[in-house]
Amino acid sequence: MSDEQKRVAAGRRVVIAGAGMAGVQSAVALREQGFTGTVTLIGAEPHQPYDRPPLSKAVLLGKAEGSAFDIDFEALGIELRLGLDVTGVRPADHELDTEAGPVGYDSLVLATGAEPIRLPGSEGVPGVHLLRTLDDAERLRPVLAEQHEVVVVGAGWIGAEFTTAARDAGCSVTVVEAADRPLAGALPAEVAAPMAAWYADAGAELRTHARVERVEPGAVFLDDGTRLPAGAVVVGIGARPATAWLADSGIALGARREVLADARLRTSAPDVYAVGDCASFPSGRYGERLLVHHWDNAIQGPRTVAANIIGESPSVYDPVPYFWSEQFGRFVQFAGHYALGDELIWRGDPTTPAWTVCWLRDGALSALLAVGRPRDLAQARKLIESAARLDPALTADPAIPLKRAVAS
Ligand SMILES: Cc1cc2nc3c(=O)[nH]c(=O)nc-3n(C[C@H](O)[C@H](O)[C@H](O)COP(=O)(O)OP(=O)(O)OC[C@H]3O[C@@H](n4cnc5c(N)ncnc54)[C@H](O)[C@@H]3O)c2cc1C
Repeated sequence: MSDEQKRVAAGRRVVIAGAGMAGVQSAVALREQGFTGTVTLIGAEPHQPYDRPPLSKAVLLGKAEGSAFDIDFEALGIELRLGLDVTGVRPADHELDTEAGPVGYDSLVLATGAEPIRLPGSEGVPGVHLLRTLDDAERLRPVLAEQHEVVVVGAGWIGAEFTTAARDAGCSVTVVEAADRPLAGALPAEVAAPMAAWYADAGAELRTHARVERVEPGAVFLDDGTRLPAGAVVVGIGARPATAWLADSGIALGARREVLADARLRTSAPDVYAVGDCASFPSGRYGERLLVHHWDNAIQGPRTVAANIIGESPSVYDPVPYFWSEQFGRFVQFAGHYALGDELIWRGDPTTPAWTVCWLRDGALSALLAVGRPRDLAQARKLIESAARLDPALTADPAIPLKRAVAS
């Protein structure tokens, strides 16, 4: 920043709503990029800001106490207001409403993330758990330690990771999934099908086509009349953007209740940005709007937001999406985004510990799923970035490094 820009910026106030990864990284990125105005980070949770992925892994098993970010907010001049709910925003007044009164801003970042979808009728039933927050993980720790009989509702990413931890802890686990396979919302049938065996290998029972009718203390009832004993029930049926507080703001929301951001992560209101799990953005690379509920997006997006707030070098957000999951002793990684019609190419045998699936669109790699093949993943990110065309036969050969599969 030039001295003149620093002088002007010094009087500016950036307020960030939500103190998860996206909010924290927005604050840090502003400082890293030389922003000298005030930065206020407001978060509903009372805890020091923390990272979520360890919650379903080390924290759950008691291998880590917590996962607080190792950031010195005071030294960075970032004001933390924790345990404070943001209740609304009035863009015309450049004011945010909180439980402690209004807060004025020059630029506002919406980073309120997502909240887990609740199982209808299960609210208030003793022994029913979600897994989104540190408090949730702390409530679940004794459940694992006491080796309860657990029913997991939903065989998605969280369901799989929780099942892994619960089996490690010695719980007996039944997973009920309404679809015909795990990860039905994320992966095509032929790719997800081999993953069903992972549950059995870990000693968990996966019941597909299984719909929960009701939950009572100590039991889950399926709609075919089956009664599953349950010392605890863990619901992992997805998450939706935490945007109810924006209902009267006039800020445009999408069909999935997410904030509609543009390519610079600006919302429909002036000086208001949105980033992380709460917002979708138009992907130039994929030609469609993406709503990404993964950690990497909550790290990358904030750099764009900070650059655009500072305004020196306006920046467009067009990442190659990436995420990982640790389940059943496997490291599962995914890069990119596929669409119906992309050509699917297997690279290895899915009954073995390490295999990869590639998706090609017009000959170029659009997405890749790697199980225990991190090198494929690392090379795929670069290949997707460069839109290089791949030779399908070479791509299918797991003995050939993916980067050598580029068509000549
Ligand atoms: C258990 C678990 C494990 C995960 N593991 C992985 C993984 O292995 N790999 C991966 O890629 N991704 C993983 N994720 C996803 C990843 O953690 C999220 O994508 C990431 O945390 C999103 O960050 P965020 O800041 O956008 O949202 P959040 O982390 O949801 O943070 C938003 C914050 O805003 C606060 N907030 C909400 N509403 C308000 C309000 N009105 N006022 C004030 N504050 C508010 C919330 O309390 C929250 O603290 C996991 C998620 C969970 C829950």
